Amino acid sequence: MDFTRLRLSGFKSFVDPTELVIEKGLTGVVGPNGCGKSNLLEALRWVMGENSAKSMRGSGMDDVIFAGTDSRPARNLAEVTLSLDNADRTAPSAFNDELQMEISRRIERESGSAYRLNGKDVRAKDVQLLFADASTGAHSPSLVSQGRIGTLINAKPKQRRAVLEEAAGISGLHSRRKEAESK
Ligand code: ATP
Ligand code: MG
Repeated sequence: MDFTRLRLSGFKSFVDPTELVIEKGLTGVVGPNGCGKSNLLEALRWVMGENSAKSMRGSGMDDVIFAGTDSRPARNLAEVTLSLDNADRTAPSAFNDELQMEISRRIERESGSAYRLNGKDVRAKDVQLLFADASTGAHSPSLVSQGRIGTLINAKPKQRRAVLEEAAGISGLHSRRKEAESK
């Protein structure tokens, strides 16, 4: 399963529709300070189901919406769409029939966010489980953001174990168990 394209609109500093083609082998993003590198990575996390405002460097979830600048008014809506190519059929088995997948998340000020998977409304949980089962969730060690290495080195054993579980693709099982136990 390959990430092929990320489209953003109204997300943080990406106020105008922006498309990033994710070529095979892309390993890093470089550019001058403040150009939006971290915002791009946050957009990727966000569309995969990140629900912690803190890890998105904001105090509330609405903070991902373009907040305006001296010359441009704020927006009320942000949307991020991630395209996946599943030609190698490595997506979790529930998605075996899908060759191309498109996941989008959209948020409106004060009304929360909603997800779509190939045009159908889905729950946050469905999207989170898809990536957790594919070992590449929003907390996956494959996304190395600023300060992440230092955090890992200083992490407590339990947090390090969570990283290994994510890499092994079993964090989806844990969250299903938690969900089952709470019913
Ligand atoms: P560095 O090299 O310093 O790590 P970076 O390329 O990672 O920089 P980002 O942190 O992605 O830069 O982008 C920072 C810019 O995004 C700042 O100019 C900030 O004002 C802008 N920004 C962040 N959130 C919003 C928002 N909600 N609305 C508008 N602009 C925002
Ligand atoms: Mg940065």
